[in-house]
Amino acid sequence: MTQLQTFQANSVAKTTSSATDTQKILAGRLFDPYKLQLLPSQTITVSKSTGLILTVGSTSENDTRTLVSDEIIDLRHLTILPGFVDAHVHFFLHSYGEASWDDQTTKESLVERTIRATVHARKTLMAGFTTVRDLGTEGAEDADISLRKCLSGPSPLIPGPRYFCANRAIVCTGSYGPKSSLHKNQDGVEGIVGAEIADGVDECIRATRRQIGAGADWIKIYAGESRLDTYTRTSACSVKPYELTLTSPDYRFRSRMDGISPGISGAPLPTFGESELQGMINTAHSLSIKVAAHACNANTIATLLKLGVDSIEHGSALIPHPESLMRLICATSSTIWVPTLAVSYYQVQLSGGKDPRANQAWKIVSEMFRHALAMGMDNIACGGDTGAFPHGENALEMKLMVRLGADWRKVLKWATLGGWECIRPMGWETSHDINGGGMPLGDNDHRFGCLRPGWAADLVGVKGDFEKDFEATVDTVHFVMKAGRIYKKDGKILHD
Ligand SMILES: [Zn+2]
Repeated sequence: MTQLQTFQANSVAKTTSSATDTQKILAGRLFDPYKLQLLPSQTITVSKSTGLILTVGSTSENDTRTLVSDEIIDLRHLTILPGFVDAHVHFFLHSYGEASWDDQTTKESLVERTIRATVHARKTLMAGFTTVRDLGTEGAEDADISLRKCLSGPSPLIPGPRYFCANRAIVCTGSYGPKSSLHKNQDGVEGIVGAEIADGVDECIRATRRQIGAGADWIKIYAGESRLDTYTRTSACSVKPYELTLTSPDYRFRSRMDGISPGISGAPLPTFGESELQGMINTAHSLSIKVAAHACNANTIATLLKLGVDSIEHGSALIPHPESLMRLICATSSTIWVPTLAVSYYQVQLSGGKDPRANQAWKIVSEMFRHALAMGMDNIACGGDTGAFPHGENALEMKLMVRLGADWRKVLKWATLGGWECIRPMGWETSHDINGGGMPLGDNDHRFGCLRPGWAADLVGVKGDFEKDFEATVDTVHFVMKAGRIYKKDGKILHD
């Protein structure tokens, strides 16, 4: 028996509970993300005290005969799925349709932003998203660590999803906002910086350690862009040399050239060098923390893959041969791609299609995604960059994937099991026993994203038929359970 199997067996054994502790859920159909199938008439037994699944199997006559019991939840009119996972949110941002990123970071206090984050957490859970990964507080300091405390444990203070967070994220000097209109040669405005600034290997290592010490589940790097002069050389990862005119939707180092030289203003320029990236990734990995990188061009992505980054955020590059980049990501199956289609799509909607930069960004990312589909790429997780658009509308990413031609079963997998394979703590990657020598397991230790014995009892029930109308069905979340606790039933919110 492998260590992983031993742990799984122990988990199941520990979840064996008395009859009063269990509740039975009768599912009309149940989605299995491993088999990519909807299984008919399944019964799921859940332990209320541990918040884990005890058994899953075909519904027996005995199950249906005892319907009078309070312990039985009859959801035979619904399709039950593992709770959805959004692998890229920002709880400390709200829709750019309400306020720009600059205004949010410079005009909304930390208190306001934190209160908003609690509302976002609730909306997210009620939309059926039982786990999220928050990739940076965007100037809200370390508030995510405190928010996680309030969302976690056997009696969470407020309703919200299982919450993995990346603390402040790491950027280099000069590259990130907010930028002062008065003090040009200064990072941030009135002491507010959008992420932690680090330059050089030593500072990068220090920032990584500091954020992990603060309690981060993940490290997020704004890896940004490569040097223009590197585009014509062959990368170490065998990406073909490109004749490139790249664009990036953000982090234009010389954005202050707007109006003087728009071409320079919009040009992608380097953030971190390879040794800095290596310092951050190696340091995080040595402390069992995984690393997500915002990266928008081929050479940066190639370097990150070589260095063993764990997830690529966005990954949209305007290149003549996008299939070679996708092949590279596809081949590194331990690195997950989070395409964040939704944020690009939303920016187009927000501008009414009149912003050429937004239009181009959407064109690029949708093309990249189509290439990924054509290649059969599967190391994908759903994450919308939710926060740039309204929280609670997280399913937009899934809808766009289907609109762009993805099989809906695959999309459901990427939004459930794919989320687990992306977000799971590093110990799971190497089958280490994360049981910690018999210590109790906490919220972020449990497996989620599939309904199997020993896994988290995080599940949603939807009404409708995915095959006939994917979008309406994914929007009709009637039932939400997280860790064995019901938060929504018959479409009505409980535990408000
Ligand atoms: Zn983001």
